[in-house]
Amino acid sequence: MIDLDNNATTRPDDTVVAAVNRALREFWHNPSSVHRAGQAARQQVELARQSVARLVGAQPRDITFTSGATESIDLAIRGILGATRRRTDQPPRTIITTPIEHEAVRDLCASLAADPAANLRVLHLPVRPDGIVDADALPLLIDDTTALVSVQWANNETGAIQPIEHLGATCRTRRIPFHCDATQWVGKMPTDLASAPIDLASFSAHKFHGPKGIGGLYARQGVRLRPTLRGTQERERRGGTENVPGILGMGAAAEVAMIWLADPSHRSAISALRDRFEHAVIDAVPGAVVNGPTNPALRLWNTTNIAFPRLEAEALLLLLSEKGVCASAGAACSSGSLDPSPVLLAMGLPTDLAHGSLRFSLSRETTRQDVDDAATIVAACVGRLRGSSASIA
Ligand code: PLP
Repeated sequence: MIDLDNNATTRPDDTVVAAVNRALREFWHNPSSVHRAGQAARQQVELARQSVARLVGAQPRDITFTSGATESIDLAIRGILGATRRRTDQPPRTIITTPIEHEAVRDLCASLAADPAANLRVLHLPVRPDGIVDADALPLLIDDTTALVSVQWANNETGAIQPIEHLGATCRTRRIPFHCDATQWVGKMPTDLASAPIDLASFSAHKFHGPKGIGGLYARQGVRLRPTLRGTQERERRGGTENVPGILGMGAAAEVAMIWLADPSHRSAISALRDRFEHAVIDAVPGAVVNGPTNPALRLWNTTNIAFPRLEAEALLLLLSEKGVCASAGAACSSGSLDPSPVLLAMGLPTDLAHGSLRFSLSRETTRQDVDDAATIVAACVGRLRGSSASIA
């Protein structure tokens, strides 16, 4: 199988598998227990927290382990709102976000806006046709009801890198908490949260070759959060016995990612493969176009989103899978549904083009052979679906 679906999940690194194994065999006691075996597990958890903190440029005490980015996002958004509750007879508070967020943010905000008890409204920053948020619009939306701004760092479908510094600086000037969904960024790009104007950042281990079901929330010191899961663990921020194998796996993944990130040529090598794949597909498939920014500085190194006019993404995905290529349509979680991607629609893509768009995402492990073979297979599959005589390898 050629795996070009790495924004959904990446293959766990061998050292990650070893760390998870070791946790299950040696450190299976409860890290909250006072006995020696429990404290040995606690020590391993804290070492992993140090590794994850170094990966994101934070202090270990700023990191809370969660079950993944969805939970981190939930804790960040509902935690901030809960810490600064308003009476329902007061004017509604506002969250400012974007229409191109992952559904973990989008659906949570929509459900809060629909709940009268939350007394909240949601405003959206405008998005340019290249998938970049208009940061200049933020000051126009902020007022004294603004409780939180939440914007992703890099888009999971197009790889568009958002103007996080600019948005965060505006929030800081106006003293508004800024949450960043950094799930597609952390582990793929050097990150220094301590010096970024970000108060809360959510991320997940399985986006950088760690295990699934484990993630982190960074909360800058001094940020008040009301826990959504009560308990004494994680400095009372997240109750429940820690997922020790997941945490140790995430720590190992962070260590490997830091080594990889230390050499920028690794990223440029994979972005060159991404470009090679894109050019091969565009050259071979009449009418195919790339969705997202054209400026390379605004693109995550591993992602491309390509529209195939007159095609249904689902049909192409299934045929690609049959021929040994993994890709996805829109967010991984929405593949299998026939709805076009809300992200692409928010960028102004016509519905039929959004319907026929696929995301291909590379990883540290992707090879030149992978992208060459995948491009040939994509071209042949599109040809077959369009009823041409192109034969499939
Ligand atoms: N945010 C972004 C940008 C994502 O890409 C994802 C997963 O695809 C999530 C949040 C949710 O992550 P998880 O499935 O680990 O909860």
